[in-house]
This record gives sequence, structure tokens and C-alpha cells, in this order.
Amino acid sequence: MSQPHVLLLGGTAEARGLARHLARFPVELTVSLAGATQSPAGYAGTMRKGGFGGSAGLARWIKAQSVSLLIDATHPFAAAMSRNAAEASRLAECPLLRLARPAWEPEPGEQWQQHPTLEAAISALPAGARVFLATGSGSSDALATRPDLTMFLRSIEPVAALPEHVTPILARPPFSFEEECGVMQRHAITHMVVKNSGGAGRSKLLAAKALGVQVLMIERPPQPEVVETLYDMTAMLERITACLSLDSASTRTP
Ligand code: NAP
Repeated sequence: MSQPHVLLLGGTAEARGLARHLARFPVELTVSLAGATQSPAGYAGTMRKGGFGGSAGLARWIKAQSVSLLIDATHPFAAAMSRNAAEASRLAECPLLRLARPAWEPEPGEQWQQHPTLEAAISALPAGARVFLATGSGSSDALATRPDLTMFLRSIEPVAALPEHVTPILARPPFSFEEECGVMQRHAITHMVVKNSGGAGRSKLLAAKALGVQVLMIERPPQPEVVETLYDMTAMLERITACLSLDSASTRTP
């Protein structure tokens, strides 16, 4: 009998971790990436790259490839993909699970300015600020509106057509507390703009607190409410086992 086909929407460290687990499950695993990063970190399973053509395209792919379970493990700010996944799951009548990270909460001594969007955060920055943007490659349009600021944008790969007042910093996560302190001190940073991604990247918030750098936190976009969401890898693996009616002996973690 053929194995059930799992389509994992990735692009995050959590998706890579989940793929490593699923590689030991009796399933056929396809991992999908948007294709924005030229040399992404490796994944277990078969990889495919590029958009599906909206929710209808994803639903067609799911049917054509006989997908038994769709898993959305995309970044909390990849809102369009998560919406598409929810709609495609409905159209193709394919179950969907979402693997998510809890949002960061301020710890004692941390005071963040909260902003609903990157644009709102950028326009709230005071004149003359030296700004560290830990917001990744999709940020350049908003930056052009503030040529009065000195900005440093960190991304994994070069961002095309950066405005002159924005200096690129190319680096691949994860970053330690010491590395985050180093980058902020080197560039005499006064303000940091960051997405509330949650997960392991909290060291930049600790570094900002230690150095007295003001944090402008971009709130998460809303996620489709209908989707069953798990915040924990063990719970996710149990749910996948149940969804696909797998023998739990074959999916137990060693
Ligand atoms: P997005 O705005 O939600 O998605 C835009 C379009 O890109 C989607 O409609 C879809 O195209 C395609 N797409 C996105 N994720 C895909 C995937 N895993 N597989 C195939 N197609 C995908 O997404 P985004 O914010 O640009 O993020 C793109 C990727 O980078 C995601 O995989 C995400 O997990 C990862 N990422 C994003 C961030 C962030 O801050 N946004 C940070 C780290 C990693 P079609 O409509 O044509 O299917």
C-alpha cells in the first residue's frame, strides 16, 4: 500500500525540525518553499520551490498529488500563504494543521513600542535615529520613506535596490546574545525594528535591553481562526499520527 502524502509548507526553523521528524515516519513528504532564498537551508524530504498560484492553485496541487495532510509551518508573518492554505484545505477537502510559535511577550525591564505594521513603525522613528532593522528582505519599500534616518537592514541574501541611507548586513541566523550586542554596538544603534516572530531569535531583544536600544515591535498579522494550531512539536507529531491513522509504534521518537 502506498504511504500517505504530507505537504509541508516551510521556510522556518520549526518546519525544518518537523521535516526531520517526518523523515522517519511512514509517509511520503514534500516540503514546499516560496523560493525567495537562493540557497535555503536543507530539508529532509522532497523539496519543491515557488508559489502554487493562490489557494485555487494549491488546491489543484493537493488533488493532483493525492496529498492526505497539509501542514502549514510557515512564518507567523507569511499571512498570505496561511490564508491560502486554509482556503485550499477547504477547497480540496484535505485536513490542515498549523505549527506555530508563541509570540514574544515583554520580560521584566523590557519596554517595547508596539506597531501594527512595518510602515507604522518606520514613520514613528525619531529624526536622527540609527536604526537596526531585523525585519528581513521584504522591507525595502517602507525604508525609502525615511531618508533622514541611518538604517542597517539585516537579511540572509542581498536585497535589490536598497535606498542609499540603508546599509545592508548579510548574515544567516541563529545569532547569539554576544553577536547581537556586537552588531548594535558596531553601528551605534539607538532603535531596533523587529517583527514579533517568536521562537529562538529573542537574543536581539535581550541585547537591546542590555544596551538601552529602544525596540519598535511589529505585531503579528491575523491568522485564519479555523485552523487547528499546535505550538509544540510533540503535540504536532501525535496529531499527525492520529490524522493519518499511523501505527504509533512506527512514529515514536527514539
Ligand atoms: P506570503 O507573503 O504569505 O506569501 C506570498 C506568496 O508566496 C504566497 O501567496 C505563495 O504564492 C508564495 N509562498 C509563500 N510561502 C510559500 C511556501 N512555503 N511554498 C510555496 N509558496 C509559498 O509569504 P512571505 O512572507 O513572502 O514568506 C515567504 C516564505 O518565507 C514563507 O515560506 C515563510 O515561511 C518564509 N519566511 C517569511 C518570513 C517573513 O517575515 N514573512 C520570515 C522568515 C521566513 P502563491 O500564492 O503563488 O502560492
